[in-house]
Amino acid sequence: DESDGETEEYLFKVVIIGDSAVGKSNLLSRYARNEFNPHSKATIGVEFQTQSMDIDGKDVKAQIWDTAGQERFRAVTSAYYRGAFGALLVYDISRRSTFDNVGRWLTELNTHSDTTIAKMLVGNKCDLNNIREVPVEEGKALAEAEGMFFMETSALDSTNVKTAFEIIIKEIYGNVS
Ligand code: GDP
Ligand code: MG
Repeated sequence: DESDGETEEYLFKVVIIGDSAVGKSNLLSRYARNEFNPHSKATIGVEFQTQSMDIDGKDVKAQIWDTAGQERFRAVTSAYYRGAFGALLVYDISRRSTFDNVGRWLTELNTHSDTTIAKMLVGNKCDLNNIREVPVEEGKALAEAEGMFFMETSALDSTNVKTAFEIIIKEIYGNVS
């Protein structure tokens, strides 16, 4: 409620990056709309969703951007990263190659971002533990070495999805307030 003149509002941009088909769009749809799409297809163009949370009685909004398929064409532009205060760097725990590419995404992110960005490494599809190719410890170790938060998630069964976004948003809020 803005009418009382006391409620402070915050709006932070958060970007989701990572290889194609790691589950970026489904993480966002799970968080923002509690939806999962088993047949999601890449679409062209940038999309974002705005999600609110309450921190210390403040209305904190995150504008969360999804590459919406651009990663297939290596066309994630500087405009995508511009103004971002947080990033989720996603790989698929059942596909080693997506973890091997994390370094490349991190370089991209660091090149394009001008502020100190709150970063989380996200190992998605942890429901596929039976066909896991990346051990939890490896994800943790990389995140620690690069100064990122770390979490394994499942957009399919909802494991840690809300937590992952909220940790990043709280960290950004802590950085600026
Ligand atoms: P994006 O290209 O990174 O945006 O990935 P999508 O969100 O489009 O997901 C790619 C494919 O992985 C789709 O078939 C999804 O249904 C599937 N997927 C996404 N997240 C999960 C997950 O947590 N677990 C499982 N088993 N499949 C997932
Ligand atoms: Mg997508």
